[in-house]
Amino acid sequence: MRKGWKNLGAVVMAMALGMAVLNGCAGGKAQDAADQMEAEASAGDLTDSQPEEGEADEGAAGPETESSSLEADRTKETAPAMEDRDETVYVTGDKVNLRKDGYLSAEVAEVVPIGTELKRTGYSDTWSRVEYDGSTLYISTQYVSTSKPEIPEQVPAGTVLENGGVAVAMDPSWEFADYSKINSGTATLYKSQAADKKGITVCVNAGHGTQGGSSVKTLCHPDGSPKVVTGSTQAGATSAIAVSAGMEFLDGTPEAKVTLAAAKIFKEKLLAEGYDVLMIRETDDVQLDNIARTVIANNMADCHLALHWDSSTNDKGAFYMSVPDIASYKNMYPVSQYWQQHNALGESVIGGLRNAGVKIFSNGAMGMDLTQTSYSTIPSIDIELGDKGSDYSQPTLEKLAAGMVAGINAYFGK
Ligand SMILES: [Zn+2]
Repeated sequence: MRKGWKNLGAVVMAMALGMAVLNGCAGGKAQDAADQMEAEASAGDLTDSQPEEGEADEGAAGPETESSSLEADRTKETAPAMEDRDETVYVTGDKVNLRKDGYLSAEVAEVVPIGTELKRTGYSDTWSRVEYDGSTLYISTQYVSTSKPEIPEQVPAGTVLENGGVAVAMDPSWEFADYSKINSGTATLYKSQAADKKGITVCVNAGHGTQGGSSVKTLCHPDGSPKVVTGSTQAGATSAIAVSAGMEFLDGTPEAKVTLAAAKIFKEKLLAEGYDVLMIRETDDVQLDNIARTVIANNMADCHLALHWDSSTNDKGAFYMSVPDIASYKNMYPVSQYWQQHNALGESVIGGLRNAGVKIFSNGAMGMDLTQTSYSTIPSIDIELGDKGSDYSQPTLEKLAAGMVAGINAYFGK
């Protein structure tokens, strides 16, 4: 298997010791099934009151540099008068909002990465009117320039990082890559040094951890059909939040911190067991939406596990998000080709967790229509390792990781 190593071709970018040289990225992807309950809590996500959205306007780059009079102009509820322009401009900040109108509380239509080329048709000191993807939108004038910004250099395929991993970016030619809106970040591929190598790559996806991800929406299903099960996103919706922020444990710890800690432990155990590992995220923020994460996994790994904790509070136990038993969903490509594998992987992992002494919720499966599942072309699950009320101490995370490794061994017959 190990398809990852063959596909490194055009997709590797340099990262220095886990610091993405490429800091780009923007868009978002649809909310995952796993996050559905959590999403309820953040139903207001798309308003401008969300702090992360504000940040996007300022660009990731940094401090507000506008004068206060510009700020006043930018925040008033009508677009300023504009001079006509007909020129090409480039986005100079990262994760910059394109809004539906020229004021700060106007709806965000897109979030674009540094270097994005736009046609400017209107100019004022504060806002510029631009054409993007066939739409007329508005961007803060301070984040565009007629000269092209320097964009971090891409390095040749197969570049090995100092930490032994290989940075992997999404190849835009991959199936479903076009559906992703946040994809300037990189995942990292690690090769096992164990004596007994499995020749199998496991994608470990630490849930959440994409700054600005809740201000962008992506299609729930590649065919544009509506969601069939209500989770964080209601059934009937065709688009959902790209990457939600995740819940907070009862002690206030963000879920994204715990999924990351668990992912790192899981990675080490997999490598020791002889598996190669594709880590989607190794820091607090990776600019990869749920679709980008899934597409990279599809092309670089042999199975995909997204780690989450649920938003209930009663420590109800672990379960995986199974493919819901709804014909229209099971008949939709690519779910139609892979749903048995998703469920088989889920059953194996739940079995491994149960044998490791982990409490399991109900029968260990909950049917959910997730973005991840909807775009997966390898065995792929969202695993909820507990909830807001669960212990997430180091020994518990070790136990959970050991159980998941045993489940993967069972799935691949190792
Ligand atoms: Zn989650």
